[in-house]
Amino acid sequence: ERLVGASAAGDDQAVEAALRPKDLHEFIGQEKVREQLDLMLRAARARGATADHVLLSGAPGLGKTTLSMIIAAEMEAPIRITSGPAIQHAGDLAAILSSLQEGEVLFLDEIHRMSRPAEEMLYMAMEDFRVDVIVGKGPGATAIPLELPPFTLVGATTRAGLLPPPLRDRFGFTAHMEFYEPAELQLVIDRSAHLLDVTIGADGSAEIAGRSRGTPRIANRLLRRVRDYAQVKADGVVTREIAAAALGVYEVDERGLDRLDRAVLEALLKLFGGGPVGLSTLSVAVGEERETVEEVAEPFLVREGLLARTPRGRVATPAAWAHLGLAPPQGRGS
Ligand code: ADP
Repeated sequence: ERLVGASAAGDDQAVEAALRPKDLHEFIGQEKVREQLDLMLRAARARGATADHVLLSGAPGLGKTTLSMIIAAEMEAPIRITSGPAIQHAGDLAAILSSLQEGEVLFLDEIHRMSRPAEEMLYMAMEDFRVDVIVGKGPGATAIPLELPPFTLVGATTRAGLLPPPLRDRFGFTAHMEFYEPAELQLVIDRSAHLLDVTIGADGSAEIAGRSRGTPRIANRLLRRVRDYAQVKADGVVTREIAAAALGVYEVDERGLDRLDRAVLEALLKLFGGGPVGLSTLSVAVGEERETVEEVAEPFLVREGLLARTPRGRVATPAAWAHLGLAPPQGRGS
């Protein structure tokens, strides 16, 4: 697993859980989402009603699971956590839905990856708190209607556009989570350091924040690696120098690029003069699969304005040359 990867695979689940904010006040950043959710939840509570279904879109590691748990906590309701890929048959979903308690929060991660029949069952469940359970097969099959207690579905997806409109339309509340500003990530890191009993200076957390790719999960993970380094190589105190040296060991640079990201940029600049070059050619030069370059390295390079995808191929931006400390060839763009 990549140190700067945004997925939770390979992370220590117990530590992740310990670092999760427990209520909306503790949740850092995402001001608008927080304000809107706060209003929605307070109103539902005042009415003694179940909260509207919530759709959260945004990249992995930005706090969607955390927010769903906060919604349950604020509603003093239990929560059930599952994901689209785990629900392959409508029957899997029926089993979950029929065992929910009144007011329970159902968190459905990667909701865009649910199977089609399950999705259709979910439409009715969301709208009417009812499902039709199909009993039997073929011409003798019958649909048995089953009443469900009111519940709150919290769906999470990387992009709301991936959802079929009929599903999207059934959410009463939709929020898009943005990448975090460095100053916000610094607050996340300071908070986590406090919980983990790590002494860190403001310049130490700023250094880690700058390398965290706008993502709290990555910030927390980098903090843990820096903590190890500070313990072994220094007196345990995280300064700017310690943070920079620790992340240097893991080849995560000042801007959060790792070895793979830099290999792609370097090949693009040094072998192809900054492009344009085709994805396949670039991938062969780096010695990686096409998919790895396209799906793992490029999205962040594009987001950072270091690489552009054009109809003629991949092109480095002036910022890419600057980042690697190289001079662009003379006469380009003239
Ligand atoms: P997602 O579900 O979007 O992949 P998570 O909710 O699992 O992301 O968050 C990943 C980690 O980042 C968690 O350990 C959580 O503590 C931390 N985190 C996410 N958002 C915030 C935030 N706004 N403030 C503090 N910590 C956060």
